[in-house]
Amino acid sequence: MAPTVTLQFLGAAGTVTGSKFLVESGRKRILVDAGMFQGERELRTLNWEGLGVDPRTLDMVVLTHAHADHTAYLPALVDKGFRGPVYCTEATAKLAEIVMLDSAHLQELATEQAIKGGYSKHEEPRPLYTTDDAQRAIRLLRWVPFDEEVELAPGVTARWTRTAHILGSACVNLTVDGVDVLFSGDLGRPDHKLLKPRDTPPGARWVLCESTYGDREHAEPQIPHEEMVATINRTIARGGSVLIPAFAIDRTQAIMYELSQMQRDGRIPKVPIIVDGPMSMKALDVYREMSDEFRDEVRVSDFTSSDTFVEARTPGFSRKLRRSREPRIIISSSGMLEGGRAIAHLQHLLPDPRNAIILTGFQALGTRGRQLVDGARHVKVFGRYVPRRAEVVQDREFSGHADASELVHWLAELDPKPELVYLIHGEPPAAEALERRIEEELGLDVVIARLGEKVLLSDLPGDDDDGELAQA
Ligand SMILES: [Zn+2]
Repeated sequence: MAPTVTLQFLGAAGTVTGSKFLVESGRKRILVDAGMFQGERELRTLNWEGLGVDPRTLDMVVLTHAHADHTAYLPALVDKGFRGPVYCTEATAKLAEIVMLDSAHLQELATEQAIKGGYSKHEEPRPLYTTDDAQRAIRLLRWVPFDEEVELAPGVTARWTRTAHILGSACVNLTVDGVDVLFSGDLGRPDHKLLKPRDTPPGARWVLCESTYGDREHAEPQIPHEEMVATINRTIARGGSVLIPAFAIDRTQAIMYELSQMQRDGRIPKVPIIVDGPMSMKALDVYREMSDEFRDEVRVSDFTSSDTFVEARTPGFSRKLRRSREPRIIISSSGMLEGGRAIAHLQHLLPDPRNAIILTGFQALGTRGRQLVDGARHVKVFGRYVPRRAEVVQDREFSGHADASELVHWLAELDPKPELVYLIHGEPPAAEALERRIEEELGLDVVIARLGEKVLLSDLPGDDDDGELAQA
C-alpha cells in the first residue's frame, strides 16, 4: 500500500510571514521553507512557540529563496537539534548566509539592550538563537541546480524553477512517495530589471500559491519612474540630497541599476550615488558574483564600474559621507526606516527642506516609513523627535511580487492543471480576492490555507477499489 502523505501549514497561512510547510510520509519529514514570523508582536511571539514537531525528527529542509520570512528560522531549528541537509539554489545559499547572520546579530543586540534596560518581560532575556547557531545552520546548506530533478532521498525528488523574485528565488516541485506538490515560493514580476525572467514549472496535483498582492494590480506607467526622476532633479537643483531607503537584498541592487541607467540616459544629473549599509554591500557582492542569473542585456558593469557609485563599506566612511554638503543620492537600508544606516541619514536629511526622501515599496504600519507616508510632522530617531521639512515621495514601481493578474497567469500556465490550489502567504482580503478570481477565471478549486491545519495529499486507502473505504 502506498504510504500516506500529508501537508501541514506551519506558517504563512492567513499572513505573509513565517513560511513553513511540513510534508510527511511514513517516517519521512520534510520542511519546505523555515521562515520567521515578522511584523506585529502577536506574530513575532509565534517564533517562540516551537515548530509543533521535534526539529530532530526532520530529515531535511528545502528552501525556495533567501528572504528572512523563508529562511531565518533555520538557526532556531539547529538550536533545537536539527542536523539534516538544507537544499537550495547557490544564490539562495549565499544570500541566506547573510540573512541568518544579520538576524542572529539583531537578536543578540536586542537581548543585550533588554538586559541593560531591564525592560524584558522574561526573567532572563535570551535571543531566539545566536550567531553560533546561524553559523551551524550555514554549514547545513547544500546547493542544487535550477531546472533539474534532484533526488534528495529515496522516494524524495525536487526541482527548482526560477521565479525572478530575488536572486536565486525559485518555486519547488516536490515529489514524495509518488505524490506531487508545487510550492510557488514568492513569485516575482515578469519584468524584473536584473534577473532572468521566471519560468513555468511543471504542474502538480497540489499547488500552494502565494497571494501577497492577490487584491492588487500594479500600475503600468507610461514613463517609468517619472516621479522619482522629477524628485531627484528638483532636489539636486536646489542643492539638496536624496535618501532612498531600500531593502538590502534585491531592492538596493535594482535601484542601483535603475539610477545608473537614468544617469547614462541623461534623465538625472551625474551626482555621486552612495550605497550605504553592511548587508546591502554583502548582498551586492553576491549579485556581482552570480551575474549568470542576470538578463542578457544586463552586465555587472552596469552597476559596478559607473564612476558615480560610492560604496560605504565601513561605519567611519558612512559618517564622513554624512558630513559632506555635496548633493548626492544615498541608497541605504532598511527599506521601511526601521533600522540600519538609513536612520542616521534620515536624522541628518529630514530637517532640511532642500532634501528629499524617496520611499520604495510597501511601508508596514508602525514603521517610520509609514509615518512619513501618512504625513507625520515629526519622526522619532534615536530617542529624539526630528522635524520633517524634507520632501517625501513614494515610488510604487518597484515591486518584488507578482500582482493578482500575474498570479492568475502563473497558475493558468501549469500543466497538468492542479486538482486543488491552496492559497498561502497573503493577508485574508488579498487571499479572498484571489480565491474568487482563480475560481471565476480558471475554474480551479481553491482553499485558503489555515495556520496549523494538516491535509491529506495521497489517495485515501482504497481510493482505487471503488469506495470500499466509504462503506466501511
Ligand atoms: Zn520573498
